[in-house]
Amino acid sequence: MSNKTINVTRSSMPEFDEYCAEIRCLWDSRWLTNAGSKHRQLQQQLEAYLGVPHLALYTNGHLALENVIAAMDLPAGSEVITTPFTFVSTTNAILRCGLVPVFCDVEDTFYTMDPGKIEALITEKTAAIVPVHVYGNLCNVEAIGAIARKHDLKVIYDAAHAFGARLHGQGVGSFGDAAMFSFHATKVYHTIEGGCACYHDDALTDTLNERRNFGLHGQEDCLYAGGNAKMSEFQAAMGICNLRHIDGEIARRGEAVAHYRQRLEGIPGIRLCPAQEGVTPNHAYFPVVFDGYRFTRDEIFEKLKENGIIARKYFYPLTNDYTCMSHLPTGGAHKTPVAAHIAARVLTLPLFADLTAQDVDRICDIILG
Ligand SMILES: *Cc1c(COP(=O)(O)O)cnc(C)c1O
Repeated sequence: MSNKTINVTRSSMPEFDEYCAEIRCLWDSRWLTNAGSKHRQLQQQLEAYLGVPHLALYTNGHLALENVIAAMDLPAGSEVITTPFTFVSTTNAILRCGLVPVFCDVEDTFYTMDPGKIEALITEKTAAIVPVHVYGNLCNVEAIGAIARKHDLKVIYDAAHAFGARLHGQGVGSFGDAAMFSFHATKVYHTIEGGCACYHDDALTDTLNERRNFGLHGQEDCLYAGGNAKMSEFQAAMGICNLRHIDGEIARRGEAVAHYRQRLEGIPGIRLCPAQEGVTPNHAYFPVVFDGYRFTRDEIFEKLKENGIIARKYFYPLTNDYTCMSHLPTGGAHKTPVAAHIAARVLTLPLFADLTAQDVDRICDIILG
């Protein structure tokens, strides 16, 4: 049996020569960042691939989320209904915009925001909903959209996990007022670091472009104290290369997922997320919930680690339980019991395009052993 370390993820890369060919022209142009030709090309290609009306590239997904929330111009101190079952970036983005996160529990099958629990959290101060397509599982976009329309709330999706996923053929980034994708090296599709904001209202184009460039407006004015969140030409070039191969990468992830399912489906005490109806999945993560299994999540985590296999407790702890959130009146994992139950039992197993059937067998043998 092989002892080689299997990490939870492994970045996909184009051939070295392909990337070199893509960046060669930068030695002539000396245009390295600030909306150069690679940046413009990638923006157009991603709008087409993702099926979204408008898209702004960013140096990372977090700043894309923060900027697109800020661009909605919500009154300071407004409440934003969100999920604690996510990476801390989602909650931090809300707080850093001067808004108050209000944590809604998740539903028990796909671990996305439970639309049945949103309306009880709405007050006069509620201005927006920030749900997460966690693991690439799609939120109930129809129910969330209906609540938002009824109460006149903005919806901004954290779609960091959902690159390439579709619902009845429609790109996931087109739901809500806006959506953010992360192109971090560990995600399904990457630009080393990177991300984008997708949005419907063309009036946001100038403000998003200005927000990622210090708030500068033309050559001689600055409209607000913005930061720097621009994507460089080298990042965009990596994105252009990776986009050529993305469908094959997702298909190979799908093969690994099919093999995992074959080994782990129907085992008492092991819960897998079922396929979602009407959804073309992107196979971003493979979460397994150990609920009444003969080993606990933490025991499985340790057993895998002893064998050189690195799984992750995504998402534990919940963001509403972190030190900097738990002091909030809305904080505390006890207020989101379903999310807390899952967070205590979930493990995401290694998943990447190069993961072999033998690797999957080695991992499953340990889990089932
Ligand atoms: C990765 C991630 C982010 C942040 O994206 P970066 O590109 O790393 O800044 C935000 N939300 C979720 C759910 C993520 O997984």
